[in-house]
Order: sequence, then C-alpha cells, then structure tokens
Amino acid sequence: MAKENYEKTIVSLQNLLSEKEELEPVVAERINKITAELQTTGCNSFDPVQKIKTGLCNFKTEIYDKNPELFDKLKKGQEPKFLVFACSDSRVSPSHVLNFQPGEAFMARNIANMVPPYDKTKYSGVGAIIEYAILHLNVENILVIGHSACRGIKALMELQEDGSESTYVSLRLGENWITCQAKVLAEHEDKTFEEQVKCCEKEAVNVSLQFADIPICERYFGE
Ligand SMILES: [Zn+2]
Repeated sequence: MAKENYEKTIVSLQNLLSEKEELEPVVAERINKITAELQTTGCNSFDPVQKIKTGLCNFKTEIYDKNPELFDKLKKGQEPKFLVFACSDSRVSPSHVLNFQPGEAFMARNIANMVPPYDKTKYSGVGAIIEYAILHLNVENILVIGHSACRGIKALMELQEDGSESTYVSLRLGENWITCQAKVLAEHEDKTFEEQVKCCEKEAVNVSLQFADIPICERYFGE
C-alpha cells in the first residue's frame, strides 16, 4: 500500500509538471525536489522494526506507566469477563472495536471467526481455548464477532459444490461449514452473490455459536 501511494504521488507530480508549463519556476523546482526525495526514500520509508519499537514505547509510556495498579494486579493473574472469537482481519481487532483493556478479554482469532464443532481429536487449538477460558478462567460471557467485507466468508461462498479446496486453511475447520454455505444458498437463492455473502457473514456467527454449544442470548448488528 505504501509503495502504491508513493508511485501514485510520483506520477501525480510528474503529470503536474508536464501539464502546467506555466508553473512558476520556484514551484516547479519545489516539485522536482519533492519528487527526488520520494524517489530516494519513498519505497523504503516504512521501517517495520522502528514501527514495533515506537509502538512498544508508546504502550509503555502512555498505558503501562500510567496504570500501575492495573498492571500490578495483572502480574498476579487474569480474570477476563469475556471469551471472544473474532476474525484475523487486521481491520477488526476486538480491542479497538470494543475498547477492551488489558485483562478484559481472552481471545481466539482465525479467518472468518470460525468455531469448529467439538471434537476431542481435531481442532484442538480452539477446543483448548474454550476449555481453558471456561474451566480455569471462569469467563462469564462468550462473544462471536463477525464483520462485513470478510474475505474469508467470501471465499467460503466461493467454494464449489464439488468440494474444491479453499485457499484458506481455517475454512476447513469442520466439514460442516459447507452447511453454512448451503443454508445461505437455499434461503437466499434469489439474491445476488454480494447479498448472499452478507447473509453468510451473519449466518457464520450463528453456526459458530451452534458448534460451540453456546446459547444465543443476544445479537447485535452494528451498521
Ligand atoms: Zn474476516
């Protein structure tokens, strides 16, 4: 994305120079200078290590150091009130969307926020999360969060009837997931593919709750 923006900026500046011959020399010189700077530094302007360092420093000074009581308590253990299942999508972090603070939510994330059916021999990662959260942390609330524009759900809806493999491994978290797709196709066959994808985004949450054997207490669809 950063590289695309950089290339777009270069093209825009070059177009501006070619189209505006009447530009004042000082303006043209300034544009040339900016273009040169972007060409030498633009592609390499994102430093992932620096990004991590800055983020950690910000957490330390703005959150950790300002909440000594909270973090002293968390050093002794955690008592989260929520077990949260959410998509791995970078745009929908539950901590940001729901403002969870450290110690408040025990989380499991995978593509398309999927909870597989209970099985002692398969999907043990998710099963262990549920077992630990309920038996040892005594969480009081279980939350499954779906979201719009979910690429995982779109991929699920693109699965072929012949059982073609999905690109996304977690879509194979339980063969029964195909029933979610089939249900949406059966109940919404008159809708467009995009509308069916939206229906599936909601149906997938229902299926997750069903597989996790969680009684549905409340639904909330934020628009
Ligand atoms: Zn998603």
